[in-house]
Amino acid sequence: MQSQHKLTQHILIALLLGALCGLIINTNSLENDWIDRFITDGLLLVMGKWFIAFLMLLVVPLVFVSLVKGIASLTDIAKLGKISLWTVMLYISTTAIAVGTGLILAAIISPGEGLNLSIGAKEITTTPPNFVDMLISFVPNNPISAMAQGNMLQVIVFALLFGLGLSLTAAHKSTHNLINFFDELDAVILRMVTLVMHLAPIGVFALMTRSVASQGADVFIPLVSYFLTVVGALAIHAFITYPALLKTFTGLSPLVLFVKLKDMATFAFSTSSSAATIPVTLATTQRLGVSTQVSGFTIPLGATINMDGTAIMQGVATVFIANAYGISLLPADFAMIIITATLASIGTAAVPGAGLIMLTMVLTQVGLPIEGIALILGVDRLLDMMRTTVNVTGDVVVSVIVADKTEQLDREQYHRPH
Ligand code: ASP
Repeated sequence: MQSQHKLTQHILIALLLGALCGLIINTNSLENDWIDRFITDGLLLVMGKWFIAFLMLLVVPLVFVSLVKGIASLTDIAKLGKISLWTVMLYISTTAIAVGTGLILAAIISPGEGLNLSIGAKEITTTPPNFVDMLISFVPNNPISAMAQGNMLQVIVFALLFGLGLSLTAAHKSTHNLINFFDELDAVILRMVTLVMHLAPIGVFALMTRSVASQGADVFIPLVSYFLTVVGALAIHAFITYPALLKTFTGLSPLVLFVKLKDMATFAFSTSSSAATIPVTLATTQRLGVSTQVSGFTIPLGATINMDGTAIMQGVATVFIANAYGISLLPADFAMIIITATLASIGTAAVPGAGLIMLTMVLTQVGLPIEGIALILGVDRLLDMMRTTVNVTGDVVVSVIVADKTEQLDREQYHRPH
């Protein structure tokens, strides 16, 4: 356990060092072209991409195997129904609360008011995604292609069906060998996660340096009010809403949860991807005493559909763009933003920058120009890091609540230091 503690320290140090080196590169790169060529877009690029690839290569096998293992070991199928019901209900309601928080804060601060739009708006050619197509695509035609493409929702649907089949046949026939096989495979993949975690300090350093190096301070100035509104709403959601929900539903201390979240938060922050963070998020829920039957389901699903941070950004961005174009929003528009931002965040892929693409759906729904997205592009990188951290925190909080409500939480483990 000592080594886990050391690793956390190393990752945090890497994060800070990365930010520092990024700042140095950012202020010197204009004079030193070779820094960009050999360091930022050379060595650091390779190290960062390798690290993300190592995490991503684990995601499909990990999600599939842990979900199948979890479902197959569930002897009481009614329990699966209870787990799914609690999970989906909490995921959707926390996201709606998140957008609401963003909108209230945006209404108070009014970011973007008085902004002269004709400056800076570039043409953006993105077609808004269609919601019906999104619903249809939940069920895969071909599970192998779903896995090959890393389509998490489709992998989850297939794994659920496979796990159910396995659990039902185990009652009558001898599929115990197969169940054992998945148990053993799960242990191997979790060991691989631990191995990859050891690369984290290097990976986090490379990713941090690159993202700080590419962000000039000047892009922030016209967007300060937008930036601060999003950050404020993210902070309220993470530090007030989540602890309040956890306390109300389970009576557990939120502080314990936050202390154990450190590693996961650094991963999410530096990778900007809920999907790449799945291996670490799963490990975190285990340390919090959530049974794998619950976390095997809630974490991959949450990484895919539960994005409270993204929904906050989408809500605030919509108000910002409306203000910037001088378009006033009616109460009905706000209701529409809550509904569409909740749906858009469900459809957002768990990869860097995806939330911005889905924002087109919200803007189209309330009749705002999609080109407005160009306005906020400059600060999106940093906001993406922060909102991804909130996204995965939400998954963990909901997992703990669901585990508690379905008697799948080891409360002693929750309070144990590691
Ligand atoms: N990067 C976010 C995530 O993976 C999605 C987004 O908001 O862009 O959770």
